[in-house]
Amino acid sequence: MAGREQSVAPRLGHARRPPRHLADLNPAQRRALMSRFGEPPFRADQLSRHYFARRGGHPAVMTDLPARSRETLAAAMLPTLLTAERQVSCDSGATRKTLWRAFDGAYIESVLMRYPDRVTVCVSSQAGCGMACPFCATGQAGLARNLSTAEIVEQVVAASRWLGACHPPGWPARVSNVVFMGMGEPLANYRSVVASVRRITDPVPQGLGISRRSVTVSTVGLVPAMTRLAAENLGVTLAVSLHAPDDELRDELVPVNARWKVAAVLDAAWAYAASTGRRVSVEYVLIKDVNDQPWRAEMLGTLLAGRLAHVNLIPLNPTPGSRWTASSPDVAARFLRRLESHGLPVTMRDTRGREIGGACGQLAASGADLAASAAERAARGTGQASAR
Ligand code: SAH
Repeated sequence: MAGREQSVAPRLGHARRPPRHLADLNPAQRRALMSRFGEPPFRADQLSRHYFARRGGHPAVMTDLPARSRETLAAAMLPTLLTAERQVSCDSGATRKTLWRAFDGAYIESVLMRYPDRVTVCVSSQAGCGMACPFCATGQAGLARNLSTAEIVEQVVAASRWLGACHPPGWPARVSNVVFMGMGEPLANYRSVVASVRRITDPVPQGLGISRRSVTVSTVGLVPAMTRLAAENLGVTLAVSLHAPDDELRDELVPVNARWKVAAVLDAAWAYAASTGRRVSVEYVLIKDVNDQPWRAEMLGTLLAGRLAHVNLIPLNPTPGSRWTASSPDVAARFLRRLESHGLPVTMRDTRGREIGGACGQLAASGADLAASAAERAARGTGQASAR
């Protein structure tokens, strides 16, 4: 177990850490830090209000702070963490995906999805991912590093800032749901993810005040971390990416299954459901002729019947060069009906964001291409300079 956790840890050789930010700290730590700037503890609450309640952070608008301290405090507590490298929209603007560049050039992506009754932000928890699921674009690139707590929170704050500035009349103006289904394996970046959930759900102005039940943490099934998460009493929804009911196929689709088998993952899921009283969402990507056979639907239905589970079927969004495609709609519909015949609540995920590289990691992969060609240009430039 320790060996496995080591292998999913960030590359510790990474020398620089993201700049410290207010959102990395809990309210008590923020207050304690104020003395370092010769400020009273309540300044931390003022800064929290600027960041979490007003989604701001520019010194010019912090008129409740003494002019002499604004620049210093903003630079020390609210540094820029993420720069938007590219934005793409689709579904008539209802879906908007952002490719972010972090302080060290790492690329991550987040997606804002607007619905008439809710707004969901899908956040990344790592730059890249070490889980190596063969159908996932992020899995192909490997893990660059864990994101800091504030880098995760900032994705929600940025979405919320943008939403506040431009939402069509009658549509929600606030982020209501957060799903950890962007790049990375959240439970392999446990501490930062749990801390970010606290920032996201702490009441305004110490946090973003989003309801715990509207936050979903999705995992490939890191069993010890699932058990630990249940004990945190965070009250968030757990999603488990199962993708196969049998170990033989799951070993291939979700390589970490070599360590934690289907039965162990589901046991941990049911323990989580029992401790929260909430349904676990079982994610199942439908891949044509790979995991969509009627007998696998039957096997899955039998495994989940009578449990506190909800199944979310996701037609595969093929990654470039992939040998796999999505199940045909009629096969997918039959798979869904067979699960329902076991009394399970089942939904088919909508395919939002497909035309904007919606599959996990696709936009970052193209960002990495950008970075690679920029590095190439820089290298050519250096070559010329040294030739001179
Ligand atoms: N590592 C976590 C969270 C990130 S992925 C996890 O695996 O749960 C979020 C969801 O997107 C997972 O269910 C994942 O299996 C799914 N996913 C990844 N690549 C996909 C693709 N190409 N098409 C459809 N769903 C995909």
